[in-house]
Amino acid sequence: MGEKVDWDPPISLEPLKERKSLHEFQEAVERRLERSPGGAVAVFNMRQFKYINESFGREKGDQLLAGVISAMSQRKKKEELFCWVGGDVFYVFIDKWDRDYVRQRLESYLRGAARVSMRILKNSQAAFYCGAVISNPESATENYSLERMLTHVMYALEKAKEFPGNKIWFFDAELHKKELQENRVELQMQRALREEEFKLYLQPKVDPVTRQLKGAEALVRWYMPKPDPDPDSNADPDPEKDYILIPPGEFMPVFERTGFSSRLDQHMLQEVGNLLRSWRKKGIRPIPLSVNLSRKALFEESYIRTLEWVKANYQIKNGEITLEILESVAFGNLEIANEILEKVRNMGYRISMDDFGSGYSSLNVLAKLKIDELKIDQAFLRGMEKGSREERILETIMKLAKDLNIPTVVEGVETLDHETLVKSLGCGCVQGYLYSRPISACEFTEKFMKDSQNGYQFQI
Ligand code: C2E
Ligand code: MG
Ligand code: MG
Repeated sequence: MGEKVDWDPPISLEPLKERKSLHEFQEAVERRLERSPGGAVAVFNMRQFKYINESFGREKGDQLLAGVISAMSQRKKKEELFCWVGGDVFYVFIDKWDRDYVRQRLESYLRGAARVSMRILKNSQAAFYCGAVISNPESATENYSLERMLTHVMYALEKAKEFPGNKIWFFDAELHKKELQENRVELQMQRALREEEFKLYLQPKVDPVTRQLKGAEALVRWYMPKPDPDPDSNADPDPEKDYILIPPGEFMPVFERTGFSSRLDQHMLQEVGNLLRSWRKKGIRPIPLSVNLSRKALFEESYIRTLEWVKANYQIKNGEITLEILESVAFGNLEIANEILEKVRNMGYRISMDDFGSGYSSLNVLAKLKIDELKIDQAFLRGMEKGSREERILETIMKLAKDLNIPTVVEGVETLDHETLVKSLGCGCVQGYLYSRPISACEFTEKFMKDSQNGYQFQI
């Protein structure tokens, strides 16, 4: 008597008859928006529903769906719309656009769904994720058509899926724009390589005492065709008009993520090899050139093979090409990195450590990595004042490099004051806008390589 019985009411499968098409949902929302514009559309998915169906059986899967449909319908307010469109896909419309309010409402739907799933699956619980988009009729930029909302909401759902557990993700126009741009870059890069849109630019390396040209750094520039050049025009393409010049800062981070960067590095290495050979053929005495390496390149077999090939194919002399690596290549890989660097140096390449002093510099890396040159980050010169802490640090780094017998290059020399300072610190080589910005390889050859016997001397 009075004993508590753990009794679950049977789950009715009736709600499964309430399936509607997305089109019906769309029409219902349309009618609401006509009466009063603005509101939120959300779509819910169940994580691993297929797996639940398989491991718990189809019958349990049906019960779960029916339970979720009825739990969510019960949470629905009069002004809201709820619709199950089949599978594990549920749509909700909320007639408000205040984000906090919408979030609260969606959390309530999520809680309802999660709770009922626990009751049905006993010890397990299904997790749900939800994408949402809010259209604000008072906003100039976030007042979307229903069609747009239905596209954006799917994008938000994809984002929500990337996170664990019960997750709500609101469509974010800024992020969306950025990701679209990244996707565009990704789609375009293979084609761009084929169409030779990546151009070799060079920036001089200069002796600050004599102002003589000592070498140059290769820097990539992307000449991307404008999306829609005049289709009726028969005129030859004008690089200034029909192309957009994109600096590496805008695409290298994406390339690094996709792994395309080392492919591009190989291309730049070949371009540099080719330029050295073409100078030689024209009777111009080559100057040493540096190329940049992305983080992964050094660890890729194909990059090492390209190094061998370039050396042999373009008859590159020892020390003529320097590879600029970032100190982060060594983090966690110091021994492997040193092994590879040793091999590469034995092939006749010099190794330079780029951007030293930016990010998380570690003196340990400097002690353990075998390098032939240290490039000091331009951040030290930027905004530096006489007697400042930056100046003292720069001085100490230069002294340290001297003790270790490693030649230094200071980047970012923009003014005569900068030049005076680096000279006083005994720096043998500098780079910066004071002498020249990076320019195309053609222009560089024209400007600086004609009198190559004595080496070009900069006039300032
Ligand atoms: P980085 O290797 O440190 O190259 C120097 C950057 O500083 C270049 O920017 C150059 O234009 C800029 N710079 C030179 N002098 C001055 C100056 O006086 N003032 C200022 N404010 N800036 C100066 P850029 O060409 O935009 O390249 C940015 C970075 O992109 C490079 O930094 C390098 O890390 C990367 N990068 C460029 N080309 C390649 C490439 O072919 N492969 C790889 N993996 N990375 C590259
Ligand atoms: Mg560099
Ligand atoms: Mg640098």
